[in-house]
Amino acid sequence: MRGELEGGGMIKVLAHGNQHLQEVCPKCGCLFEYSAEDVYEKKITVGLIAWDVITKVVKCPECGLEITIR
Ligand SMILES: [Zn+2]
Repeated sequence: MRGELEGGGMIKVLAHGNQHLQEVCPKCGCLFEYSAEDVYEKKITVGLIAWDVITKVVKCPECGLEITIR
């Protein structure tokens, strides 16, 4: 059954612009909104063998904590 997907093509963008995401800071507890432009990559070292991992982080506007994004 796939008939419900046919005859479409009517998807419309109702609001242009950045996709805003939300995150709660685990340190100060503030809820803030950010866009993809605010996300940057950071290399962190984990484990006993100093494994380098690139993570995406966003900075809390309240306290400056760098929060890892999943
Ligand atoms: Zn914070």
